[in-house]
Order: sequence, then C-alpha cells, then structure tokens
Amino acid sequence: RQEQFRALRSVDPVTKDGKRISLMMNAGLLVDLPQLSESGADGIGLFRTELQFMISSTMPKADEQEIFYRSVLRQAGKQPVTFRTLDIGGDKVVPYFRGHEEENPALGWRAIRLALDRPGLLRTQLRAMLRASAGGELKMMLPMVTEVSEVRTVREILRKEVQHLSKFGHRLPRTLKLGAMLEVPALLWQLDELMQEVDFVSVGSNDLFQFSMAVDRGNARVADRFDILGRPFLRILRDIARASERNNTPVTLCGEMAGKPLAAMALLGIGFRAVSMVPTAIGPVKAMLLGLEVDALAEELNAAIDDPHPVMPIRELLALFAERN
Ligand code: PEP
Ligand code: MG
Repeated sequence: RQEQFRALRSVDPVTKDGKRISLMMNAGLLVDLPQLSESGADGIGLFRTELQFMISSTMPKADEQEIFYRSVLRQAGKQPVTFRTLDIGGDKVVPYFRGHEEENPALGWRAIRLALDRPGLLRTQLRAMLRASAGGELKMMLPMVTEVSEVRTVREILRKEVQHLSKFGHRLPRTLKLGAMLEVPALLWQLDELMQEVDFVSVGSNDLFQFSMAVDRGNARVADRFDILGRPFLRILRDIARASERNNTPVTLCGEMAGKPLAAMALLGIGFRAVSMVPTAIGPVKAMLLGLEVDALAEELNAAIDDPHPVMPIRELLALFAERN
C-alpha cells in the first residue's frame, strides 16, 4: 500500500466529480521539508513556528528566526507556506519561557494572548518573517484567536513593521496574507466579522474540538469520549464552511482529523476544499478522494447531520458510503 500511495504523488487531488482539493501538509522543523516533495503535498498549510523555540535551550534571536524562516521558504520553493505565529503555552512548553503556574493551562496565558502581552516578542517574529519573505509571498496566521479585535491589533502591529522595514529600504514581501486560526468557540459567533477582517481562516480542530466538547485533548480518559465525526461537531464545522463561502474567505482545516481518510471525507462532504495534515496522510487521503463523488456525499451527509432522529452514527454512514463507491 505504501508503494501505491507513493505512485499517487504526482496525481492531482481531484474528486471523481471534478473538484480540485488542496492537500497540504503540517510541518515545524527543517527535517520536515523533504516530505513536501515526497508526499506530493500542495504546500505547507500549517508551519508550527514554536517548534524552533521548543527545541532550543535559549530564546532564538531575531536573526536566527529570520535565517530559519528563510531556509524553510527556500526549501519549499514554489510551494506556499503558512507560518503560524508562536503558539506557546497550553500543551506547548518552552522551558526558558515560563509564565506562572496555571491551574488551567489550556485556558491560560498562551498563543496570541501571550503575544499581545509581550508585543516585543511578536514584533521580532513578524519582522523576521517579513525579512525572510522579501520579494516573495508571506502567509501567516494567528493561533487561539478569541475576539476579532485581537486580529485587528496584530494587523496594526504588522502594518507598522512593514512601514518600518520599507523606511529603512528593505525589500518587502510581494504579497502578504494574514489569517486566523479558528480554535476558540467564541469565534463561531463572530464568523462574518472575522472573515471580513482576515485573508483566510484555518480551523484548528484539535483545539476547537477540545473546547467545544469540554474534553482535554491530552487526557486519554476523555479525549476519545465523544466522536469528532458526531453531529454536534460536524454542525460546527459546516457552519464555518458556509460562512467561508458566504464571505468569500478561503478556509482550511489543519487539525489531526484532516489526516484521517474518513474524517477528511466528511470535511469534503460539508464543504471544505482545503485541508492540511501530517505528510504521511497525504497518500491515503488522496486515494480516498480520487474515488469520491462529493455532491452525492454532501446530499446524504447533510441530511443525516440535520436529522433530529438519526438512525445511525455519521461515522457508520460515511463508512457505508465509502464502501458503496
Ligand atoms: C489544532 O489545534 O488543531 C492545531 C492544528 O494546532 P495544534 O495542534 O498545534 O494546537
Ligand atoms: Mg491548536
């Protein structure tokens, strides 16, 4: 089977009914980069920049960050890369950057919250990304956004960094896109404002699932208690896909579920056209979608998601659909 997936590397991910799906991979270190061509991914949909910080014994300096981002972009070549700004805190521990002990780290001082409280850290990272992308494309996204105003604040900081660089004669990126990760349920009631504010949205389903079902993603006793393909979560994801269409704002999903063929199938059925996953999942997910009729699935799946008296779990319905096709 491994060989079979390898043979799909250069096959375009187009569904049986002609829909081009963007299959991207997640990465975080330079050692991940060769996987880009090995997996046949369309690009890097999530680059976890905190990894450089987590493996370093001291805080990476501005020029070290810049050199690192430059190497990533150089190795990615023509393939697009979406950098996520630092997602420290919660389950991501950086030894030399300790806040206070927290009773609920997942709900604590982390990610964009930390960045907004330590704007120097954020500015350094933004500047390193801007400089590394001189003359090219820069796509970045913010983790754990809770209110749209947080994105507006970062956009303003970014604008000032751009202004600063251009004042000192630095070459700027040719294009600059700012996105938000959708991981906190409060954003579900700000979808239209959010999508008007950003260039794209990326669903962090690991955290969105954790927060919407109130189950600690790292606690084995509850992590698998509720099905990620159950009706409540699929309704949430479908609302996001619909908002994306309504607002003409590209949406992608980069949590672990995107790399599970059955879950990826569900995502296509509810309207997603771009997903990012572990590189080893690209082959299996591509194999799934090549034989998939998305419109037919959408009809069945949507009806089942809305059914107030469901006869079978969605997971089962998906498996049956996959078998039939
Ligand atoms: C997620 O939360 O789904 C996500 C992609 O981010 P991370 O797993 O790094 O928290
Ligand atoms: Mg997350």
